[in-house]
Amino acid sequence: MKTPADPKPNLKDQGKLAPTSVIDTSKMSQEERAALELAEASRVSAGPKNSFAGSLFMGSPDLEPIFPFPAQSIEDEDQGDAFLSKLETFLEENVDADEIDRTGEIPDEVIDGLARLGAFGIKTPTQYGGLGLSQTNYSRAAMLLGGVCGNLTALLSAHQSIGVPQPLLVFGTEEQKQKFLTRTAKGEISAFALTEPNVGSDPAKMSTTAELDPATNEYVINGEKLWCTNGVKAGVIVVMARMPDSKPGRPKISALIVEMDAPGVEITHRCRFMGLKALYNGVVTFDNVRVPKENLILDEGRGLKVALTTLNTGRITLPAACVGMAKTCIDWCDDWAFNRVQWGQEIGKHDAIAQKLAKMKADTFAIEAMVRYVSALVDADKKADIRIEAAFAKMWGTERGWEIVDDTMQIRGGRGYETADSLKARGDDPVPVERFFRDCRINTIFEGSSEIMRLFIAREALDPHLNLGGPVLNSTLPKKVRAKAAFKSALFYARWYPAKWLPAFSAGKGVDKRFRSDMRKVKSLSRKLSRRLFHSMLRYGPKLDKKQVLLGRFVEIGAELFAMTASVAYAQHLLNTGKAENANDLVKLVKYFCKSSRLKADGLFRNVRNNADSEGYKVARIGVDA
Ligand SMILES: Cc1cc2nc3c(=O)[nH]c(=O)nc-3n(C[C@H](O)[C@H](O)[C@H](O)COP(=O)(O)OP(=O)(O)OC[C@H]3O[C@@H](n4cnc5c(N)ncnc54)[C@H](O)[C@@H]3O)c2cc1C
Repeated sequence: MKTPADPKPNLKDQGKLAPTSVIDTSKMSQEERAALELAEASRVSAGPKNSFAGSLFMGSPDLEPIFPFPAQSIEDEDQGDAFLSKLETFLEENVDADEIDRTGEIPDEVIDGLARLGAFGIKTPTQYGGLGLSQTNYSRAAMLLGGVCGNLTALLSAHQSIGVPQPLLVFGTEEQKQKFLTRTAKGEISAFALTEPNVGSDPAKMSTTAELDPATNEYVINGEKLWCTNGVKAGVIVVMARMPDSKPGRPKISALIVEMDAPGVEITHRCRFMGLKALYNGVVTFDNVRVPKENLILDEGRGLKVALTTLNTGRITLPAACVGMAKTCIDWCDDWAFNRVQWGQEIGKHDAIAQKLAKMKADTFAIEAMVRYVSALVDADKKADIRIEAAFAKMWGTERGWEIVDDTMQIRGGRGYETADSLKARGDDPVPVERFFRDCRINTIFEGSSEIMRLFIAREALDPHLNLGGPVLNSTLPKKVRAKAAFKSALFYARWYPAKWLPAFSAGKGVDKRFRSDMRKVKSLSRKLSRRLFHSMLRYGPKLDKKQVLLGRFVEIGAELFAMTASVAYAQHLLNTGKAENANDLVKLVKYFCKSSRLKADGLFRNVRNNADSEGYKVARIGVDA
């Protein structure tokens, strides 16, 4: 039986509303309002179109973009293979990741060798001296690097996922590309400077300023940036700075390219961390630094758009690196768990360890499926709106990555906790789980922390509802506007809501019979997700955005459904093209993943209704208010 097609929300008039008119800011503090208004103003106004991940929250998953899996073409794969095999050989022959970790320095020969391979311009088009490879091949390079050395991954990723190349590829003028991409592709290191001592997740408080000097047509930058990865070695960086506000309370943030040898630029401190010991990360200060007007990326006041768009694509690199790390962990664990005998049998045959191994393997496959899917979307369209997909991959992939390295430590027992140097010194196999553990922890914090990713995805998930229902609840809008919005949303929901109670009879076009029950489950869980989200909107109204953990559960359910679908679609692609090493094992792995993921979603649904969130919120302040 076919279920009726979803009515499409008519958002024609909503575009005329101010960006924040869908959210009632009247009861917020000035600071809260400024942060929210800035975030809203830098969003792309309408939610992503044709987004499979986004459609999950509206209860009618649009499988078209993901089935069949948008696989890499043979030609593109061959191009990637040629580079990856050189990179792999280089890493094997020239890189001692433990030594880099021990000394906290990357040898110059390694940096130079990587530059000669073209590793600093992987995605940069050949006309600017780069390799001109696809996003998928770039992600594959991150997977390879992630399985070997976190420091090199961070060096190359900060340089080209968020440093000068990425924003210029999307927004740069031809002159900017000619001038800077030709340098960065050859190996001149770049970086991205947004964070400040008082600006972490919330850029509204940015204090670095850039003012135009009309006499010279130069911007003059003053301020301090914190934790700028690669800043210590960079020749050129992107700096986010605030220009004189065009509207009170609405900071005008812009993105500027700054030469690190410009007078007034200084690295005042090299930051050191728990892991990623050889990160060239520093505090950068700007004292009346003059930057030519041509170095402005996009327009004045569009800096956050530049930053957010850059990060959308840039953040795919982190889960990609987690795939590599996880595969290395799996190799170590397989080797250990099926050789180490305790209590009469190999530890991998004890159920507690076997279940960890199974989860590691299934999760790794799912992260890779997500990363490859999002990368393929970018390859199909450089300006594709991948906000939700990339955020899902970043949040889910880095969280699973962390669990995988944690489980690896547990499986390796005491040897997991011992440093590679110490293991080696006493003649044991120097497996560097401890280094991986330290290097991996940051992944859920930088390039959009897990908490911010949940808020970001929730905002996008709620977008169609906010556009329809938000103005109705927004007390700052005129009554007439609210009444019109109420009528329109009543019409929409009268058709939309009943359809969300119908069972999912079909798995979707093109789904292999072995996975049909899993995909039917995805569909029915997606409907349930949309209903529960809708009920929560009715229950909490504008206060829903304060219920972060509740919203987080919805986001996590969405992520599970996305991971299930990406896994099924990618597995089907591997099976159909004969690329699966062992077809039966692959089906078993993906079906196990789907079952576990579905059970996780069931648990999250239970916790939507039954939780201790209100109590927890109060308990958090115990000992603080006294
Ligand atoms: C090793 C390293 C490398 C880095 N590299 C760079 C770089 O190259 N360029 C750059 O610009 N920055 C860089 N950063 C900064 C990094 O992106 C920030 O650490 C990150 O954005 C979080 O900011 P913060 O640490 O100030 O945390 P805060 O924003 O102070 O947040 C602290 C905690 O509160 C949570 N939180 C914050 N706001 C909310 C909210 N509204 N709701 C719920 N929870 C919230 C956060 O998720 C986090 O858990 C780097 C940091 C490190 C440690």
